[in-house]
Amino acid sequence: DARDSKSRGGNTVSVRVRSLAPNFFLTMGVVMEECIFCKVVAGDISSKSVMDTDNVLVLKDIAPKAPIHYLIIPKKHLQDLRSFEDIDSNLAGELLMTAQKLSELNDGVPFRILINNGHEVGQRVNHVHLHFLAGKELPELF
Ligand code: 5GP
Ligand code: ZN
Repeated sequence: DARDSKSRGGNTVSVRVRSLAPNFFLTMGVVMEECIFCKVVAGDISSKSVMDTDNVLVLKDIAPKAPIHYLIIPKKHLQDLRSFEDIDSNLAGELLMTAQKLSELNDGVPFRILINNGHEVGQRVNHVHLHFLAGKELPELF
């Protein structure tokens, strides 16, 4: 089935290829991975956001690992911190300042930010996101 991908900001037509894994599709001859967070950003998957700015979306994690567990997600698709370029440095700052705002919204709660960069270290969604964890004594890592 062909589908319009205007929501990604382009006018390309992408085609699902049944012989590929279901979360991949072919667009302009290039195999792309479907991205769940891009779909949320585009509104293709409905989701209640905690915060929604020009560049950043904050969701509650569907499987919280702490009493407060938010995901701070850039609207731009970037796989992980290794994909950031100079042009993304403002965005990097915005993501951290979003964490500060989330703490303010929770009476200045202490928090931990965790970012998995790569499958080997636990990244399961290949669209960079900051885990904002708070609300109880978290296990010490260091
Ligand atoms: P990672 O392991 O990639 O660092 O973290 C992915 C996180 O995204 C996990 O904590 C998982 O529970 C969360 N997650 C996966 N799919 C969804 C979703 O569709 N909506 C929300 N809100 N969280 C998700
Ligand atoms: Zn994405």
